[in-house]
This record gives sequence, C-alpha cells and structure tokens, in this order.
Amino acid sequence: MTDELIRKIGKCDLCAENFALTATQHRPRPVPWFRAGTPIMVAGQAPGMRVHKEGKPFWDRSGDRLRDWMGISHAQFYDRDLVSVLPTAFCFPGYDAKGADLPPPPRCWDRWHAEALQHIGTPQVRVIVGSYAIRRHLGLKGPMSEIVAQWRTHAPGTYVLPHPSWRNNGWLRKHPWFESDLLPDLKRTVGAVLNSA
Ligand code: SF4
Repeated sequence: MTDELIRKIGKCDLCAENFALTATQHRPRPVPWFRAGTPIMVAGQAPGMRVHKEGKPFWDRSGDRLRDWMGISHAQFYDRDLVSVLPTAFCFPGYDAKGADLPPPPRCWDRWHAEALQHIGTPQVRVIVGSYAIRRHLGLKGPMSEIVAQWRTHAPGTYVLPHPSWRNNGWLRKHPWFESDLLPDLKRTVGAVLNSA
C-alpha cells in the first residue's frame, strides 16, 4: 500500500505549470521517502535543487548538518525502515528573485499529506524542521525562535528545529542553548530509538 502511494506521488505533476514559470523552468520531480511504521519521521520544507537532481531527501550540506544534529549516520538516515522523510511539499519549488527557494506549494500538503501521515503512523520521534513544517504539523505560527525555545514543552519525542541551512548560522550563534541543551537531548532520544530498532 505504501508502495502504491509512493508511486502515485512520484507521478504527480499538479504543479507543472507553476514550475514552468520559474527561472529554472523545471518539471516536477517528487521525492517521496517514507514507509509505514518507521520509528523516526523527519518533516521538512521542500527539496532544494541538489535534492531535486539526486532524488534523495536531505542529500546536501543541510542534510549533513541535520544528521549531525540528530546523531544519526548517513546509512541509518537513508534506511527506509528507520526514517521517513516528509517534506511540506515533495518537489523543488524553484527560486525567488533573490535566489532563495520559493515556499512549498500549499496544494501538495492538501493533496497528499493526510494519506502519507496515515501511512507513516505514529513515529516515536518526530523531527520538525523549519517554519513551514512547524505550521503544518504543530499548527504553531509564532516566531520560530520562540517555538524552538519551548522545546521542553513539546509532546514527548517531538523536536522542533530551525532549518539546518548555513543561512541559519547567525541564529545558531545567538541561541547557544540549542547546541548545548536541545541537541544532546535529541541525540539521546534518537540513539535510544536506534538501539531498540
Ligand atoms: S509539489 Fe506536490 S503537488 Fe506539486 S507536483 Fe510535486 S508532488 Fe505534486
């Protein structure tokens, strides 16, 4: 059943006309990467250009940093029995005029995510990355810094992280508790789940 859903998402081209109007004029290339019952789910924004080309989620330097934050190896991260990766949109959306990634197309969430979330089930660890995913998965709209700072109040096993992009290096410097307090807790939780998997 999951394979059938992955196949259907993989063929989706609902955003083809929109993507054709962007500077890259790219075709949709959905990157669905999930399986029923994985103990870990990473919920992110949308694929970037590198992921669009490779067809693997977080296949870039941001992914390397995210794996480091989680204390998970490359092989473990890409083990589909361990980790589902559910972006807010499955395709690279293109760039805006400043060269930043466009927002994830909302229609992707509306079309696919209820089914995908139902398939994944209830992971022991949810890693919610970036403001788009925070809004979708937790319904929280305040400033990201405040939401991340409240990490001890989130549901057990739920971790809210800023996007691991180099663009957030300044944010990391301003919030040292993130690396000193939150990340060790995240690594302990992920490590316990991996040890019992
Ligand atoms: S972003 Fe989502 S809705 Fe749009 S083409 Fe890709 S899979 Fe389809």
